[in-house]
Amino acid sequence: MRKDLKSHFLATLYGAAIGDALGVPSEGLTITMYEKYFPNGIHDFVPSPPGLHGSLQPGQYSDDTEQLLILANSLVQDKGLDIHNFSKRLANWWRISAGVPSMNRGIGKTSWAGCRKLSLGVSPFESGSQYSLSNGSVMRVAPIGLFYRNPRNSSSKARVSSIPTHDKRECKEAAAYIASMISFMVHLGKSPLQAAKASLDMIKDKRLENRFKKAIRYRKQKPEKVAKILGTRQTVLQSVPYAVYCFLHNQTSYEKAVLLAVNSIPGDTDTISCITGALSGAHLGMKGIPKKFIKNLEDQKRIRSLGNKLLSKAAQFGF
Ligand SMILES: [Mg+2]
Repeated sequence: MRKDLKSHFLATLYGAAIGDALGVPSEGLTITMYEKYFPNGIHDFVPSPPGLHGSLQPGQYSDDTEQLLILANSLVQDKGLDIHNFSKRLANWWRISAGVPSMNRGIGKTSWAGCRKLSLGVSPFESGSQYSLSNGSVMRVAPIGLFYRNPRNSSSKARVSSIPTHDKRECKEAAAYIASMISFMVHLGKSPLQAAKASLDMIKDKRLENRFKKAIRYRKQKPEKVAKILGTRQTVLQSVPYAVYCFLHNQTSYEKAVLLAVNSIPGDTDTISCITGALSGAHLGMKGIPKKFIKNLEDQKRIRSLGNKLLSKAAQFGF
């Protein structure tokens, strides 16, 4: 086991949560609105434009991190992935978010529909959408890559974790790819490029594989060009390969990687930077995450505590 495993576990969770919180204000903005409210770009936790993104304040994370923390907690409590218990936790979370509008942090349509079905007692194998290509099961998947040491196991568990909300092949394969990359970097010490290339063998969808190959091939190209080629929208075919690009384009700097994602307009910026942030944290460890972000992140102590518990359970039960 790597000596600095704890640092990489914590940085993956912090990396995702910080990326998500940084990306909230620019999510879904048109270029005109972005230029009006953020003429110098976004470089820190800032308020959203008036009337957008509910009551989320600077440093607060969105539904992406909520789901990621639910999955991490599920792995800790159940000593690994138990799809039924994980689904119960998703359903409980949805009930609160649906019942109290101020508690809804922007749950996407597909997650909403899947969790609603789960809360009505539908089986997790029948609740997920077979049609939606949205990225809701990829943004939450990072804890699986931490928990399971073997990239092949983490990719197969990632697929299962997608099923209750996102049961379409492309969504499951995109989740498998990101979990596998994290396992390769955190547990096997692979470089970002090695992890990105090796994870291509883990996925069973040619169209998605070609998108990830493009993210790798264009990693040194300019963001404006790559954003046009890959796209930055919510579909897993666009946002997930683009998140991998943001990471590969800035392998040595967490801050540069996530801020590139945050300022990729128009786009699903909170989710792209959540995924980019998890990948970058997994690679760099805590030395890569700027303290200024951790200090102002909501729930930072709870996230640290959950990361420590995840590490100790993973050492016992992750395989
Ligand atoms: Mg969100």
